Amino acid sequence: MPTVRSASSLIAGVLAIAAGAASAAAPAAPDVTGHQAQIDKIVSEISPQRIEGYVRKLVSFQTRHTMSETESDTVGIGAARRWIKAEMERCGAQSGGRLQVAFDSHVAPVSARISRPTEIVNVVATLPGSQPQSKERIYVVSGHYDSRNTDVMDAKGAAPGANDDASGTAAVMEMACVMARYPFDATLVFMTVAAEEQGLIGATHWAEQAVQKKLNVAGMLTNDIIGSSRADDGRIDDKQVRLFAESIPATKEMSETVRALVATGGENDSISRQLARHVKEVGERYVPGFKVSIVHRRDRYLRGGDHMPFLARGFAALRFSEPNEDFAHQHQNVRKEGAMQYGDLPEFNDYNYIARVARVNAAALASLSLAPAAPQQVQVRTDKLDNNSTLLWLPNSEPDLAGYRIVWRETTASQWQGSLYVGNVTEATVRLSKDNYFFGVQSVDKDGNASVATYPAPLR
Ligand SMILES: [Zn+2]
Repeated sequence: MPTVRSASSLIAGVLAIAAGAASAAAPAAPDVTGHQAQIDKIVSEISPQRIEGYVRKLVSFQTRHTMSETESDTVGIGAARRWIKAEMERCGAQSGGRLQVAFDSHVAPVSARISRPTEIVNVVATLPGSQPQSKERIYVVSGHYDSRNTDVMDAKGAAPGANDDASGTAAVMEMACVMARYPFDATLVFMTVAAEEQGLIGATHWAEQAVQKKLNVAGMLTNDIIGSSRADDGRIDDKQVRLFAESIPATKEMSETVRALVATGGENDSISRQLARHVKEVGERYVPGFKVSIVHRRDRYLRGGDHMPFLARGFAALRFSEPNEDFAHQHQNVRKEGAMQYGDLPEFNDYNYIARVARVNAAALASLSLAPAAPQQVQVRTDKLDNNSTLLWLPNSEPDLAGYRIVWRETTASQWQGSLYVGNVTEATVRLSKDNYFFGVQSVDKDGNASVATYPAPLR
């Protein structure tokens, strides 16, 4: 880091802005590393007590199995989703009435884990963006409210699902209720989905609809098993959360986008990795003492989550999970074996921990949706041998845009190490070799909100 930091201060003096700028002097940069008052307030308002209340209420429905009871008002998945919807409507109404809460329903046919045609219902709360030029851009945060026990087809037995995934559901509900009081440029979708355990069916339905409607989903975060800070050997670690981030998708054929990444050594610069870098930086800035530990994988072995149908459709998507899972308290029938209590029960959750994870999510979502869109069609000139790096991109038309920031890191580094604000131009040259560094370009607004970085494609 020190070598690059000193390189960065050297570069400010020797920057050449190649086109479109009246002066080659470095323009005054908005402060992109400070705290936005609105985000600090949101983070401080996330409540572990309310999150615990949501989890315990979800557990009270006895089972939220996707094929469980739907008529009862007190037991089963039908009662659970009606309660989630009513609760989000209630807090939306108390928060200015902008939160739009709706069921997103479809009937899933018989499949490996669905034994009869079953209505799958997501509860979707949308907070429309307040800037017309930005509101078509959407960020999604999800948790799954369905639950299971040892037998994934058991629709009747107790399945409290306090950690998997009432924890993620409660975090999403809390974020929706807190964030609905504040304006954001882009649109936020707070989603609690069903049938994750039966094959990611609810999230797949929403993601496929997003493709059909050509929605601009600029990022997706799922929260699944974020409830406990205690490992199966008793260790407590409440100072970090894992953030799973895919690089190259495991498809049989390479898309042109993936081919360009591989051809330039950009395996660690996929859109999901860029999103992960941003979430880590913002999350750790707003939740001091808490670490976002990026895992360079789509998910854990043998496991999956609701980010996967988004990844499969080309969206940037990430998964949050607690650092050390205790498998005695997930996907297990509630029972005692000797002194050992099995089952996904609410007493094994750490509600302060869930609140911390929710704060990281909320800070990242707020930052992304206050910032301009990431620069489009970013390219690096490669038409002649040159030890400088010239980047160009399309102009952003959002009214609060201040300019652009070029970021870079050594090819073996994970997080950005250097940066240079270049003002409102669409082309700039940095006196560092593109052969030795990875670059990205961020859009920055007048308040200092920065977008995710865009990795450049080679321009010949
Ligand atoms: Zn889960």
